[in-house]
Amino acid sequence: TAPSARRPIRPLPDELISQIAAGEVVERPASVVRELVDNALDAGARQITVRLVGGGVRLIAVEDDGCGIPRDELPVAVQRHATSKIRDLAELEAVQTMGFRGEALAAIASIAELALLSRPADDPAGHAWRLDARTGELQPAARPPGTTVEVRELFYATPARRKFLKSDATELAHCIEAVRRHALARPDVGFAIWHDGRLVQQWRACTDLDPTLAWQRRIADALDGDFVAAGIAVDASAGPLRVHGLVGRPDMARSRTDRQFAYVNGRYVRDKVVTHAVRSAYEDVLHGQRQPAYVLFLTIDPHAVDVNVHPTKIEVRFRDSGAVHQAVQRAVEAALAAPRSAAAGAAPL
Ligand code: ADP
Ligand code: MG
Repeated sequence: TAPSARRPIRPLPDELISQIAAGEVVERPASVVRELVDNALDAGARQITVRLVGGGVRLIAVEDDGCGIPRDELPVAVQRHATSKIRDLAELEAVQTMGFRGEALAAIASIAELALLSRPADDPAGHAWRLDARTGELQPAARPPGTTVEVRELFYATPARRKFLKSDATELAHCIEAVRRHALARPDVGFAIWHDGRLVQQWRACTDLDPTLAWQRRIADALDGDFVAAGIAVDASAGPLRVHGLVGRPDMARSRTDRQFAYVNGRYVRDKVVTHAVRSAYEDVLHGQRQPAYVLFLTIDPHAVDVNVHPTKIEVRFRDSGAVHQAVQRAVEAALAAPRSAAAGAAPL
């Protein structure tokens, strides 16, 4: 419509509001996988199984053994801005869960066929229920305690988006990468990924090992055994800020940034401050376009970081970004300068 033809101001229909929100959160199947695995982890899952068909476009089903959702709350879970994770501003500012916006399920339901199947772990009767988000129909079902979220025909309602998707193989690779990001931070949780009926990845939970060993095993499984064997452990604190993890020796640097994982309070982030700080630490030892490999965990007072900056929460804002930059740079510099130690890697948790 021409900008000159003024039309009356009207609130947008609910459906369209959700579709606009979905545009921010869901770029491709991997974005859905990330949101659903976030939810499974928030529910306390110990085992998470992701089943994909057709690169995740035909079907994404994420199954967990977490706390479940009571029957009465299933319809609420798919409403916009409905969440069990925060209740007020004070809780938002101290948030520790992956989710808090109460938007993901509603957004996904507006651009795909969504069904929830859940059995609360503490339900004495042990009943499971299935909710079809489109029809609102609730039916008895069967499953062990936990939740399965099924997402079918992603972007069927928004064909323009669907056109941007790549081949099944590419979308699958992005989905695996989304799960890998979670898996590196949670060696205590088992992950399995199926595609078109085949098991394509499996990272077993390491519960019987001490946390450092468990984490080394998980990095070796989910990323690279050589990185664990030859990497350098980082563990430094600056006041309440702790930086720990594993960095690659300069000679292990790569031409790609595919071995760069940074987490803030367990949340995977792509953060300029952290990236730049690591880069600065390597400045004298890494030349040209070579990229350092690292898996780094920042533990920080939740009040000192704002995670509510970006709908996908992949960006964060630090209250004192200078202090964070300095802490990360010093931690990595100290690790690179230390005589090479045999035991690599500090526990992330
Ligand atoms: P958010 O995660 O920001 O709260 P979502 O739309 O992702 O918003 O989920 C809405 C609510 O549904 C959550 O707050 C949670 O109570 C419930 N929920 C979603 N997925 C699961 C799950 N896998 N297990 C248990 N509860 C879940
Ligand atoms: Mg969520």
